[in-house]
Amino acid sequence: MARSIVLIADDSEMIRNFHSYILKSAGYDVLTAVDGADALEKIYGCSEQPVMVITDINMPNMDGYTLIERLREVPEYEDMPIIIVSTEEELKDKEKGFEAGANIYIVKPTDPEILLENIRMLLS
Ligand SMILES: [Mg+2]
Repeated sequence: MARSIVLIADDSEMIRNFHSYILKSAGYDVLTAVDGADALEKIYGCSEQPVMVITDINMPNMDGYTLIERLREVPEYEDMPIIIVSTEEELKDKEKGFEAGANIYIVKPTDPEILLENIRMLLS
């Protein structure tokens, strides 16, 4: 069976590496992006489409909200599971994330078990 590709967008290299490690340990393939614009380029340019996006909010060039809104405008990505993982923990940030079209909102620091549980739930 082909492995599922998950795209991770975060401007922090440490977080990208941490999230990649969590996902690879659980058997997923990983694509990484340094901001929203890079994520869109990687998704559009990828021959094998990611099954899910895990994105930060605060990133240069294009933030996570905009990335999600852009993806939701495309019929192909309307239903793609999207998880936000952000340091922003206020209700207004979560509401903004869900309004943009995120399925799940997780506050950093990332608990690997919680992240994986949510990924499995969204992909089941
Ligand atoms: Mg950031």
